[in-house]
Amino acid sequence: MSTPRIVIAGAGISGLATAYRLTRALPDAEITVCEASDRLGGCLKTSTLGGQAPGGADVGAEASLFVRPETAELCAELGLDLEFPSREHSSQLFVRDVMHPMPTDTLMGVPSEPASLAGILTASEVERAGAETLTEPADGDVPVGEFIASRLGDAVADVIVDPLLGGVYAGRCRELSMAATIPALLPAAHTGTSVLEAVSKVRAQRSAASGANIPGTKAQDAPPVFMTLSGGIGTLITALADDLSARGVRIERSTPVTALQPGQPGSGEPSWTVRAGEEHLPAEAVILAVPAYAAASVLTDVDAEIAGTLGDIDYADSAVVTAVLETGAAPLSGSGFLIPPTEGRFIKASTFASNKWPWLKDALPAGTAVVRMSVGRYGDGPHAWAALDDEELAARALADWRDITGSQAECRHLEVQRWTQSLPQYRPGHLDRSTAIDTALTRHSGLGLTGAAYDGVGIPVCLKRAAAEAHRIAAGLTAAART
Ligand SMILES: Cc1cc2nc3c(=O)[nH]c(=O)nc-3n(C[C@H](O)[C@H](O)[C@H](O)COP(=O)(O)OP(=O)(O)OC[C@H]3O[C@@H](n4cnc5c(N)ncnc54)[C@H](O)[C@@H]3O)c2cc1C
Repeated sequence: MSTPRIVIAGAGISGLATAYRLTRALPDAEITVCEASDRLGGCLKTSTLGGQAPGGADVGAEASLFVRPETAELCAELGLDLEFPSREHSSQLFVRDVMHPMPTDTLMGVPSEPASLAGILTASEVERAGAETLTEPADGDVPVGEFIASRLGDAVADVIVDPLLGGVYAGRCRELSMAATIPALLPAAHTGTSVLEAVSKVRAQRSAASGANIPGTKAQDAPPVFMTLSGGIGTLITALADDLSARGVRIERSTPVTALQPGQPGSGEPSWTVRAGEEHLPAEAVILAVPAYAAASVLTDVDAEIAGTLGDIDYADSAVVTAVLETGAAPLSGSGFLIPPTEGRFIKASTFASNKWPWLKDALPAGTAVVRMSVGRYGDGPHAWAALDDEELAARALADWRDITGSQAECRHLEVQRWTQSLPQYRPGHLDRSTAIDTALTRHSGLGLTGAAYDGVGIPVCLKRAAAEAHRIAAGLTAAART
């Protein structure tokens, strides 16, 4: 087999993980990763927080699920030690100007016993949730928030489920796909049976199978739900990039991939010519590990159907404002809080990052704490926050946080990281459209798609898809070389 040339567009976790898997599957391949921006990592980014955290702290994604295997396995291969959240602190929900413990016996906020939401919801809202209104059996996928609202009332959807799902997708639960977000409830939608009973069954099964290993539970002996790395989950990017460079992979920054030209089969031309920055790169395989709108733009002339489906995937804008506070005399308690949109607050969530992550607390000057404040939900108009300059955005987030928490801790450092068009919105039918894209992809040999726009937005699912696409592309190249 002559040395295959492979170009990967995008050096977020998906692009780098795809390259990593390809170096193992095809050790002789010439691999080039082209990244549009001047830094690697995409949604994974660390900062020293003005020198207060010299080893780095996350200002983008800050954790990965540990209950899925992919991230921990990759870290083990790269020789990285895992860090886990503190069990001393729990998260809270800020509703009607009061901080409440996060309800624990729910499935992403959907209760099995509505009475457990008493105090967070009003008595009449709890009563409404308990009097579940069964709906007609539905076909296919449904909008999860609308479905929950129709079954258990608006409050369960808008006050409890919305902030929990919003924490993952920066989206609104009434517009998100149930199949993609809480698939365990789909049978209840399809058969017209009780959601409360479905949650109860799922929770019982999970407790039996994994010792109460469910987000929100606090059993001291349960395995952790989340993990990260010392210096932030963003250090995974550095480790991957170092590994790839050591294996001869070219990683080009400030090099956007803007077009693809398929070669004529049998003409002796390369399968693809990739326009990357000022270069035209010949390649036997190309993998686009970029957001859906960027992949759509590159594929317009290659496959209008795939490009059209990708172009229809909307993205949410959000921002993370990170503060280093002097909390010496009055340490913060808890790991943070979520706020439903019904509260009309400027921020939508806050993580007390140094309470949540012991490694970060140990890395900071004594008496200080790191607090992350999240701003932005899908559908916010430009004047909600995006049009504000960084100084104003940070000041308004901190003022809102102080008002909510009552803390007047002095601020040592404050920084804004905007995440524009960063989180794909999984609308009803998303997973079917993703499957249709995969089917259509088989029309093009040596073309792959990885990233958060397909099977899931979390890091583990991105890693799973990256491994699967790397395997598929490697198998295709190996088979082509034999013929
Ligand atoms: C604020 C925030 C917090 C999050 N928190 C978590 C979390 O705690 N845990 C978790 O599991 N997930 C989290 N996520 C989601 C997760 O981080 C992302 O879904 C995942 O990192 C996406 O990785 P990716 O490589 O597919 O895409 P991206 O990270 O978006 O990377 C795509 C890369 O492609 C580049 N690019 C774009 N166009 C081109 C082009 N034409 N040519 C070349 N390069 C191009 C971009 O510059 C970028 O570097 C979070 C996301 C955000 C925004």
